Amino acid sequence: MKKTLLTLAIATLLVGCNPSDNDSQPPAPATQAYEYLVQLSSGAEGIGARPTGTEAETRAAAWIQDHLSGWGYEVQNQPFTYTKSGASKSSQNIVAELKGQSDKVILIGAHYDSTGEKKGSEGATDNGAGVAALLAVAESLKGQTLPYTVRFAFFGAEENGLNGSKAYAASLGTADTAQLIAMVNYDTIAGGDIVYVHSAHSDVAEYSCAEPSRYSFDPKVRDRLLAISKLGATPFAIHPSYPGYPEGETGSWSDHAPFACLGVPIAYVEATNFTINGADGYDGYSQSTNPALWDCYDDASKSACDRDSETQWGKIWHTQYDRLDKMAELFPGRVQQQLGANTDLMIRFLKEPGL
Ligand SMILES: [Zn+2]
Repeated sequence: MKKTLLTLAIATLLVGCNPSDNDSQPPAPATQAYEYLVQLSSGAEGIGARPTGTEAETRAAAWIQDHLSGWGYEVQNQPFTYTKSGASKSSQNIVAELKGQSDKVILIGAHYDSTGEKKGSEGATDNGAGVAALLAVAESLKGQTLPYTVRFAFFGAEENGLNGSKAYAASLGTADTAQLIAMVNYDTIAGGDIVYVHSAHSDVAEYSCAEPSRYSFDPKVRDRLLAISKLGATPFAIHPSYPGYPEGETGSWSDHAPFACLGVPIAYVEATNFTINGADGYDGYSQSTNPALWDCYDDASKSACDRDSETQWGKIWHTQYDRLDKMAELFPGRVQQQLGANTDLMIRFLKEPGL
């Protein structure tokens, strides 16, 4: 594995500050998470873009599996196939479990594929960040016995149809599903101006479930994460209501959806900015008011100066800005800070789920 300049700089700093006892201290999970994010998403220092259905996606799966195995986890590699433009494609989910005092399971998931590579995206925030945070959490908690069993799921092929999470959910029998007490989806947990936690939608029709009668929109996991986040330096937020989406409720466009359809209470963490009147309204697809991400941003209207000619709309995901070098230029320190907040949040939650 390549060492990054950042890690070396921090290591030098730590040794310089306190030479007596830092040599044997492992890095904090938040620091380690950023190191994993570099290794996964930087093309210059690691894997880089991982477009759905490519060899780079497969390499990312192997890289995740190697880390988990190296920490003593028994790792399940779950292959699956899906159809894209009429062609059959394959990918895999990587799943590791930490046995707890209870057999009841908290499932935490993040997709490792990416998109937008033609524009220059390396999938750093969407969703290298989610993967990196969960890897650092898995490393930090290895060998511990927590209140509930924790299952870490790294999903493939999310970007063209939630294929990995759908395959995983479909593989669960009735008894397996009954063990799941919560699912947390980490997708794009860094980058945007505000880190939100959402619940599923109160209208089951939003999720197009095969068996709507099983659907759950219980917000208790969201509310617990919000409460825990208040203990940290960066409280997470609940998005304001906007047409079609009551306050704090989200749609079915990411990996939490198949689990809500199974009746599992879900929470979905994502960094965006729901106060911006973006191309399609206040839907959170515009992630930042940073003027560099707009042809022209108008603070008064919280939207484009000219809605007809705007091409950028404050978006990071799937664009040329979703890479660590660009993020560091535009938002120095932000990704590290949000990644750390998410890593800390998840560790606190798993130690004291309060469910
Ligand atoms: Zn994503």
